[in-house]
Amino acid sequence: MNQLPEARLYIDGAVRPAEADRTYENICPWTAEVAGLAAEASSADVEQAINAARRAFDQTDWSQQHAERHSLVKKYMALLRKNRDQLSDIARIEAGAALGAACRAHVDWAIDGGDDLVECFNDIAWQEDRGRREEYGAVSDRLVLREPLGVVGAITPWNVPLYVNIGKVISALLSGCTVVLKPAPDTPLMGAYMGELALEAGFPPGVFNVVTSSEPAMAGEMLVDDSRVDVISFTGSTVVGKRIMERGAATLKRIFLELGGKSVKIILDDAPDFSMKVMMSMAVFHAGQGCALPTRLLVPRSRYQEAVDALEISYGGFSGRWGDFDDPENIMGPVISKRQLDRVMGYIELGQQEGARLLAGGARASDKGTGYFVQPTCFVDVTNDMRIAQEEIFGPVLAVIPFDDDEDAIRIANDSIYGLGGAISSGNAERALNMARRICAGALSVNDGMSITGDLPFGGFKGSGMGREWGREGIEEFLDLKVIAIGSKST
Ligand code: NAD
Repeated sequence: MNQLPEARLYIDGAVRPAEADRTYENICPWTAEVAGLAAEASSADVEQAINAARRAFDQTDWSQQHAERHSLVKKYMALLRKNRDQLSDIARIEAGAALGAACRAHVDWAIDGGDDLVECFNDIAWQEDRGRREEYGAVSDRLVLREPLGVVGAITPWNVPLYVNIGKVISALLSGCTVVLKPAPDTPLMGAYMGELALEAGFPPGVFNVVTSSEPAMAGEMLVDDSRVDVISFTGSTVVGKRIMERGAATLKRIFLELGGKSVKIILDDAPDFSMKVMMSMAVFHAGQGCALPTRLLVPRSRYQEAVDALEISYGGFSGRWGDFDDPENIMGPVISKRQLDRVMGYIELGQQEGARLLAGGARASDKGTGYFVQPTCFVDVTNDMRIAQEEIFGPVLAVIPFDDDEDAIRIANDSIYGLGGAISSGNAERALNMARRICAGALSVNDGMSITGDLPFGGFKGSGMGREWGREGIEEFLDLKVIAIGSKST
């Protein structure tokens, strides 16, 4: 397996090592071996990044020059696309993405989404004329302006690093904000490489900065606590999201949270396809490490056995078709780390203790290599009160739950602290649409419709977060509204 180049910091327009040349090891999930080194940012490095972003926002015309900014971000997106193969290698080696997943969700989808954002920029109404109005004798011509919020601290996870980094960084830059990106400790190079390409694109110094660190909380907490940072855009676990919200209250900054999920796929009794092939591939895609992947499968009790038999066949046929680093058809590789492996194995043990029946998998897959491989795992006879049905596992573990009728399916779907995604399959699209309207989640798919694309707002209800990313709405999250009323007597 190839070695990765060193991940370096990008601060104030320069790519450089961390203070005192400190580095940490970037571990490859396929082998559990060191694949490269990453800069270990000190608090002084983070301080410099915040300073640079603040200065670039306050003392340059970055936030006002909409057209120049737009064309620079467009140029940057073209550079990212040009370096697609390098990005794909990073996603494979660093994030453990299988080739079939690395090229699709990790890179192409992310870059297509970034291009969508560049297009969505054209829909932003930077200034609206709200007309003349007389109020208490004063005649005013009124304008509503949209203005960037300021310095954004973007804190991102390891599961689809390019996708999440682009969703935040490109939207924030397009809005006119300046950014400090803090990637997850397990995926430093994806962020660092974005920094290198930003240097090549020619962004003004300080507009975009990247700080990497093995310490999960240090840099993020500095961003959250600092009054010079106006916005935190966070994607990660619900538990860390809550902590950020609490700490961020001290400086009353805007906090956008994209958090965990426990999304349902509901297969209704009239669904034309009961083969479960698509369902299974969604549950194992990138080893189940996707926030909106369906991890609870709801099937009608009247066709329950048929569904279980189909799942058994699907999982059985999948065993030789995953975990190969070079196979372009593979969509599943290892989980990201030893920590994640232990977490997933802990949930598999818990599911058995809770009385769910293991239909497939349930063990480490040491035959795939020295990395962090977990077998594609499916639990049937799950009830929605079990912890494996309530808690986010973030691994290739599917929980299959029977339901009685449509009302029961909606009840089970909504009986969750989360509300990120969901999907419904039915021979009757209207029936499925009516159910989709009643499910508390941010992105619903009916009959395999694609609800997550770069031009649509994405985000969660309930414990899955607040705020929206992607689409015009994702850029607008980084904008504030200003009203100017001009008295007619003043002209
Ligand atoms: P995590 O919450 O452990 O870490 C996310 C980021 O926060 C990392 O960069 C981490 O270093 C940083 N961090 C950790 N502690 C911090 C603190 N106290 N203050 C500030 N920053 C801190 O999550 P993870 O394990 O990296 O990622 C997996 C999680 O991300 C899952 O829960 C998944 O559902 C979620 N996720 C959500 C979405 C979405 O769009 N809703 C997308 C991808 C991943």
